[in-house]
Amino acid sequence: MMIVMTPAAAQEQIQAVVARLETTGVHVVVMPGELTTAIGAIGDPEGVRELGLEGMPGVDRVVPISRSYKLASSELSHHEPSVFQIGGRTVGGGSTFCLIAGPCTVESREQTLGVARAVKAGGASMLRGGAFKPRTSPFAFKGLGAPALEILAEAREETGLPIVTELLDAQHAGVIEEYADVVQIGARNMQTYALLEVAGKLGKPVLLKRGLSSSLDELLQAADYVLKEGNEAVILCERGIRTFETATRFTLDLGAIPWLKLHTHLPVIVDPSHAPGDRRLVEPLARAAAAVGADGIIVEVHEDPEAALCDGPQSLYASQFGAFAASVAAHAALLGKRLA
Ligand code: PEP
Ligand code: MN
Repeated sequence: MMIVMTPAAAQEQIQAVVARLETTGVHVVVMPGELTTAIGAIGDPEGVRELGLEGMPGVDRVVPISRSYKLASSELSHHEPSVFQIGGRTVGGGSTFCLIAGPCTVESREQTLGVARAVKAGGASMLRGGAFKPRTSPFAFKGLGAPALEILAEAREETGLPIVTELLDAQHAGVIEEYADVVQIGARNMQTYALLEVAGKLGKPVLLKRGLSSSLDELLQAADYVLKEGNEAVILCERGIRTFETATRFTLDLGAIPWLKLHTHLPVIVDPSHAPGDRRLVEPLARAAAAVGADGIIVEVHEDPEAALCDGPQSLYASQFGAFAASVAAHAALLGKRLA
């Protein structure tokens, strides 16, 4: 932490700040400048924050030096990118591209098995499908619940694809743990901190989606909640954020991918479906995600999107998935990655 004094700060005021800092046991360095004095406090930023130094006479501002996210940071312990194996697929590390595909929501056995077969044939790495859905309206279809997980398990049995499904609420943790290979935390729950801790304790890889209005700093601090439970397998997902632009459903923040690659060791994937909310934009955004260095994508696919109970307009046609996957894989190959 750096405490910047006002230009008019008296020597006694500087000494009072130093004395207050020393009560926390941090190492204090006073740096007189031409105009103002800065006081460096090395160690325990949380302890320094709790001192409330902003309120002391002569203090102009308190500036954090170290990053707010710790375990997710590539600065501290982890300088190398994290790599995990999920059902034999490699996620992260720069040599593979993870293609997660499937329906937004499990609607029926036939629908899910149909999509699972199509995405498997097209080269998908994992199968997505929601059993418990976060819906804006309480009157919309909220998923089949636990029976959907049995359908997903059957699809996994048949195709060999690991299952990615959302943990919407802590009360479902047991059943999600039983069936999921990857536990998705949806955008709306990115800051439900108690749920992040529950997910962290399940001991399964967690796919953490960026909140609709969350900064990247907040995303990485949310990842810290999962990581601090001893769960090292966290996959971050950029899925579009709220901006002034309303032409697309959300604005896909492609800049987030190279930024995250600089600041975290965790794998980063992109959801090109929920950002635009429009099937016609999904393939260009998926190609762009691969081109900016994403470790994969998670994309929605349906055999009959017009009849889908959720997110039909953004779902790719299952019949076109093979061509889509080949195009995205070609872009990933430009960065030396092959499909996981
Ligand atoms: C989903 O993946 O179907 C979903 C609801 O995503 P998000 O949480 O990003 O809106
Ligand atoms: Mn969806």
